[in-house]
Amino acid sequence: FAKNTGANNYKLFTKEFLVHSQNKVELEMDLRKALERGEFMLYYQPQYHLKTQEMVGVEALIRWNHPKKGIISPLEFIPFAEESGLIIPIGEWAIREACSQNKTWQQSGYPAIAVSVNLSPRQFQSNIVETIQSVLLDSELDAKYLVLEITESIMMEVDKSISTLKELKMLGVKVSIDDFGTGYSSLYYLKKFPIDKLKIDQSFIRDIVHSNDETLVKTIIIMAHTLNLQVIAEGVETKKHVDLLTSLNCNEAQGFYFGKPVPAKELEKTWHQF
Ligand code: C2E
Ligand code: MG
Ligand code: MG
Ligand code: MG
Repeated sequence: FAKNTGANNYKLFTKEFLVHSQNKVELEMDLRKALERGEFMLYYQPQYHLKTQEMVGVEALIRWNHPKKGIISPLEFIPFAEESGLIIPIGEWAIREACSQNKTWQQSGYPAIAVSVNLSPRQFQSNIVETIQSVLLDSELDAKYLVLEITESIMMEVDKSISTLKELKMLGVKVSIDDFGTGYSSLYYLKKFPIDKLKIDQSFIRDIVHSNDETLVKTIIIMAHTLNLQVIAEGVETKKHVDLLTSLNCNEAQGFYFGKPVPAKELEKTWHQF
């Protein structure tokens, strides 16, 4: 069965996909072919600056445009890609595509914005610095318009991660901690890691209006600002979320309230709306 999730704009094939997709060897082959055939695409979701109410960035989110199954969510294949190592070439494709799209927007006269791309732990542990350097060179995108979203899990390998982050920072890119609050991190590491931004996980935003999460979110924001980090909230779905986050001095917000992830062409149509 294929359940149309509507809100997310793609069908979830969890059961069917995993059962029918036979075995991992076959799925791996499918993913490899998908990459060769250009079946992956990026959707872009706007990120708004709360004070200026301007779109200051987009997050690039990968989808698999399967010839038979339609648009497949990254939740369906990123874990496999990560497990098999295919995330390295697939992820590199995504970074290239995101940077060249952002450069194209700038060249077409749209206001300059940042593009955020997700890096899985395995990508971060690969020769990511060379990859980013090469992508920036090829796309001619100014490094300050690229944000790398990593997760707290990379903080486990402290020394190696710090040196990788330092090299990335030297290229001029920005680094954000995605899904912040759901993983392993400590104040000590937050202070020690050369990062620019925290992205508060959507699970905290969802309940912010009702529960103690408001205090939690408020505390994360104050802590981040004390450490000179910018804060973005993800999963912002309502006006109430926006008002509350604005009053808490959250810098940016991303979520269905502002816009769902959409193909580049569709984003262009709504560029100036808020
Ligand atoms: P993420 O980076 O935490 O992305 C946020 C997810 O939340 C996205 O799901 C987005 O569509 C969804 N979302 C955005 N706003 C809202 C909202 O207001 N409410 C709710 N309920 N959900 C919202 P998506 O696109 O399915 O991506 C899932 C995950 O797949 C991402 O989580 C990221 O970890 C991973 N991913 C996506 N693209 C890539 C990629 O190019 N490379 C890698 N390595 N991972 C990727
Ligand atoms: Mg992300
Ligand atoms: Mg996230
Ligand atoms: Mg997430």
